[in-house]
Amino acid sequence: MSESEHEQTDKQKYEFQKVIEELKDYRGSGTQLVTIYVPEERQISDVVAHVTQEHSEASNIKSKETRTNVQDALKSIKDRLKYYGNTPPENGMVLFSGAVDSGGGQTEMITRVLESPPQPIESFRYHCDAEFLTEPLEEMMGDKGLFGLIVLDRREANVGWLRGKRVEPVKSATSLVPGKQRKGGQSAQRFARLRLEAIDNFYQEVAGMANDLFVDQRHEMDGVLVGGPSPTKDEFLDGDYLHHELQDMVLGKFDVAYTDESGLYDLVDAADEVLAEHEVLEDKQTMEEFFEQLHDGNKATYGFGPTRENLMMGAVETLLISEDLRKDVVAYECPNGHDEYEFIDRTEETPTHECSRCGETVEEGEREDAIDHLMELADQRGSETMFISTDFEKGEQLLTAFGGVAGLLRYSTGV
Ligand SMILES: [Zn+2]
Repeated sequence: MSESEHEQTDKQKYEFQKVIEELKDYRGSGTQLVTIYVPEERQISDVVAHVTQEHSEASNIKSKETRTNVQDALKSIKDRLKYYGNTPPENGMVLFSGAVDSGGGQTEMITRVLESPPQPIESFRYHCDAEFLTEPLEEMMGDKGLFGLIVLDRREANVGWLRGKRVEPVKSATSLVPGKQRKGGQSAQRFARLRLEAIDNFYQEVAGMANDLFVDQRHEMDGVLVGGPSPTKDEFLDGDYLHHELQDMVLGKFDVAYTDESGLYDLVDAADEVLAEHEVLEDKQTMEEFFEQLHDGNKATYGFGPTRENLMMGAVETLLISEDLRKDVVAYECPNGHDEYEFIDRTEETPTHECSRCGETVEEGEREDAIDHLMELADQRGSETMFISTDFEKGEQLLTAFGGVAGLLRYSTGV
């Protein structure tokens, strides 16, 4: 994946994450919050027909309030669907609509549409409940990475993909390798030679299958996992059958009993630790570099204020944001024209600000999501944005000790 694609994905994921968190907090007073998952293959006209059907069935709902709320939600979804042609966006879309409790016995109509999630939506789902259905989307958000999978023994092989947490079997092959028992009349030597030849041919066939599938995508891939019984997988890897670039991408070989499609799933289970380690690998390397610059160099910055200032100067090479950061920024303009910013918890009320330069009190400020604010500056100045996991020590420290925001600089600025 190129850097700009990576950035795009992180940004898009962050936008999704925000909407999902908002939706998770909503409750309906009855079974009245509608969620619809639409796969890319589903025609919009089918979805509209389904919604119309649900609308008419909702007339059977006993509670007048719930009935009205469900029908209003469905109408709102239908209105939204008018903006699309007959084909949903890439990877599909999810629609949420319903009357949510807004406190004090009041309700408020909420409608949200999330287009093109990071993984394709696999099946159409209509869901009506007191809460929105966000779990399938949440599962997609945790998914990272693209890995090539190969399982083989001397009789059978399967290759496929691991996309995030989803295993996709693609191709299989079976071999003509004879069993260990030779037929009468065949010399032992000749039999052994033919058997080795057949094994070699089969390994070549499996490698060809893997090369066909993986080589074109090797730059988007995060690695290759190989599974099977011993010594097959060892022979296969030691024999350099795979394309040399794929061979270099092998993250490990794993004992797997089955080599049919189910073996691909077993392989992913067996590689669990390696995959978890790999998921934070890039984050780990980046944080190592940050600490190195912090202690022995001068090209690191941290904290909201200094990082923002460096971003403004265009000095930030990589903007580092903790993936668990939940902050807002308030922009104040004092009567003497000084622009100042406060970095506050998302749950905090907007505070009154005292200008640090002239001491004037500023009552009103413009409030914005801090990550959106920083990422926009980063985009304008050509800085890469990277979200850092908190699943390892130095990642956790970015959040707890450095305010969740830091930067690797292009040059030292003294800020
Ligand atoms: Zn001022």
